[in-house]
Amino acid sequence: MTAATETPLLECRRVGKRFGGIVALCDVDFSLRAGEVHGVVGGNGAGKSTLMKVLAGALPDYEGTVLLAGQPIRLNTPQASLAEGIAMVYQELSGIGQLSVAENLFLGRQPTTRLGRIDWTTIRRKAREWLADLEIDVEVTRRLDSYPLVVRQMVEIARAVHSGARVLILDEPTSALSPPETRRLFALVQRLRSRGVAIVFISHFIEDVLEICDRVTVLRDGRLVETVPKAGLDKHELIRKMLGHRLEAAEVGYETGVRLRARTRELPVFVAEELSLAGGFSDVCLEVSPGECLGLYGFVGAGHQELVQTLGGARRASSGRVLVDSHPIQPGDPHDSVCRGVVLVTADRAQSLFLKGEIYKNVTLAHLRRVAGRWLMRSREAGATRPVLQRVGCRPPDPLLAAGDLSGGNQQKVVFARWLMGEVRVLLLDEPTRGMDVAAKEDVMRLVAGLKQQGTAVILASSEPGMLLTHADRILVMSRGRVTREFADIETDKAALIRSA
Ligand code: ADP
Ligand code: MG
Repeated sequence: MTAATETPLLECRRVGKRFGGIVALCDVDFSLRAGEVHGVVGGNGAGKSTLMKVLAGALPDYEGTVLLAGQPIRLNTPQASLAEGIAMVYQELSGIGQLSVAENLFLGRQPTTRLGRIDWTTIRRKAREWLADLEIDVEVTRRLDSYPLVVRQMVEIARAVHSGARVLILDEPTSALSPPETRRLFALVQRLRSRGVAIVFISHFIEDVLEICDRVTVLRDGRLVETVPKAGLDKHELIRKMLGHRLEAAEVGYETGVRLRARTRELPVFVAEELSLAGGFSDVCLEVSPGECLGLYGFVGAGHQELVQTLGGARRASSGRVLVDSHPIQPGDPHDSVCRGVVLVTADRAQSLFLKGEIYKNVTLAHLRRVAGRWLMRSREAGATRPVLQRVGCRPPDPLLAAGDLSGGNQQKVVFARWLMGEVRVLLLDEPTRGMDVAAKEDVMRLVAGLKQQGTAVILASSEPGMLLTHADRILVMSRGRVTREFADIETDKAALIRSA
């Protein structure tokens, strides 16, 4: 049989998945051969993770059919997928850092001695054999968290393969790895390929995809664009297929280019000097002036999110300084940051809000003295909150409701309401509209634009090129923890941003 007529090891026919009203995946055909590395690419929200979660048994109510070696199977639970030999290594690894490498390899299935005790001798011996077999050079008695990310990934892969995985799904495995670490992971992937394992490789890094994959499937907006053999594909063509040429009015500007501004001559209000965070990013220098929005673009794991969090005091830099009006702020001290008017808003509302508490308490939290004088009065606090809620467009604008009863978009508006009651000099945003519907997104970004107009300096970190091209005056691109390029005083588009990341 030739490769073309061979029955694929795994096949998806017209697979679909909805989340409420959102069609995450629609009629997708996908096939996987034994001994191939198959790349899956697409922009944010293209449906890559959803397709793979279907295969991993994590989304039981999918539509369509999955066949294994020609036989239809139903993947209703992760156990069902594992039993069919399909294993997924998630971006958030599942290993337990405090346990040894050997314990992690045998997690949940430790062999026991005749007396019913855990058989440590066998565990260590087998763990060494397994890792040696895959040429993974680590000491099995050491704690897993004493090793870098790439080793933890390799241990998880070894665990999957030795529990019988024939299909291995890797979701963005290289996004936080250095180039030598990527080489190490690829060597393992190639060894597995030569043993006939079928590997799905999801990645934003087009170079990595072109290097390791035999075929590439492109998804866009939940639909299959095309599956192509690597031969004859180049980076530009792949990016073009990923983006497509959508003609909706809102998108036209991004495809044809947006003019970014030059640095302003105004004195910067916020400066980072040679800022580094171990394992996150290194040697970042940046400055923002009042009324300016600086965008930070990167793929997931590129370090831009860690950077804004560090700038906001939520993480403590390992070296370098952050200055507001030329005065250094206390590293890793969110309170000092807030006192100087530096405010961080993240995608994770649950982190910044007390969800069980009433909205007014959440809003006045940072301003109790000013609002209530010496005595905290519920009516006074609630009264002071109402107009701010109306201003941010919170629905409903009822200060006595629990914050947790609002939708995600409205919760984010409550976070803004809190900061609008004080003076915000520097607004740091980490994917501020993630998970919101279009209307809520627009509302929140209108608030940002309003603050900017009043002279607030804004730093906006996002992995969505469209978001940055719409809202940022200048854009710094980050890749693997470093700033790789600044876009300023130039016309640019989505493809150029993605290419430089
Ligand atoms: P990708 O991995 O390609 O970035 P995803 O598969 O994560 O894309 O998402 C595809 C679409 O499905 C997006 O519009 C996303 O917002 C939506 N989506 C994914 N997971 C969920 C979920 N648990 N609930 C609601 N919508 C979801
Ligand atoms: Mg994903």
